[in-house]
Amino acid sequence: IIQLWQTHIIWRIDMSDYIIRGMAANNQVRFFACNSTDTVEKARITHNTSPVVTNALGRLLTGGVLMGAMCKNDTDTLTIRVQCQGPIQGMLITADSKGNVKGYVSEAQVMLPAKDVAKAIDLGVMSVIKDIGLKEPYVGQTHLVSSEIAMDLTYYFVTSEQIPSSVALGVLQNADTTVSVAGGFVVQLMPFAEEQLISDLEKRLEQFSFTELLEKGYSVEQIIEQLFDGYDTVITDTLPCNYCCDCSKDRVEKAVISMGRKEIADMIEENQPVEVVCDFCHTKYTFSPEELLKLLQQGVAK
Ligand code: ZN
Repeated sequence: IIQLWQTHIIWRIDMSDYIIRGMAANNQVRFFACNSTDTVEKARITHNTSPVVTNALGRLLTGGVLMGAMCKNDTDTLTIRVQCQGPIQGMLITADSKGNVKGYVSEAQVMLPAKDVAKAIDLGVMSVIKDIGLKEPYVGQTHLVSSEIAMDLTYYFVTSEQIPSSVALGVLQNADTTVSVAGGFVVQLMPFAEEQLISDLEKRLEQFSFTELLEKGYSVEQIIEQLFDGYDTVITDTLPCNYCCDCSKDRVEKAVISMGRKEIADMIEENQPVEVVCDFCHTKYTFSPEELLKLLQQGVAK
């Protein structure tokens, strides 16, 4: 027990993940950047992912937490779903506007070299689902163009949102497959961005590696300043980010109700407790036949 307690404390102290938001080059560019090392490591531990899956899911979580921070309202949520033909089969992440992100993958144990993310994902479709409190969520769907995630999100921004953007996402792992560093950025051009700035940025981005600099010990702020060296940069705010699941028995109940009358009635007929496992954190929730019956009645009442 003492050992567990100590591990927990150390992990808390080491928690250093955060997102910065800001503007650069006379407000011609807006940027979002983050260090997501602990976030991705927590996802790796939660889902026991193989190195290539840590890489793929880690990039999607990093992109997701950045896009969550781009949401306008506190209650907005953003979900990115990847459905693909590769051995990873599919991934899903959900982020809010406050730096919380969670995710899961269909096949966590794909045995390919860590760098072969595109092979693990292969052809597929990416859906970006934004729930901004309207009756129907906004859904933008694009085909995967590279299956490396960052370029696919760049393509999404350009085609679905018509915003010229550059997305960089990276995960580096230690020899023991734990996460060494993870992070990335989204850089977006304002409509009035000048041609010269655009071509200058394109050149810089070609040879810029966010995670390599992160591994060398640079902070997110320093890396962004380096990217915009010679231009002014203003960081408007900083917020912590982390891997966090907000599931509860109450929420799981709602999911059970949504399974439908027949499904629940069948479970009651089995006369056995039913275990529901959260996809995001693997917490187990048990429902007795009596509880299921109650849910069935509630569900009908609605
Ligand atoms: Zn959960």
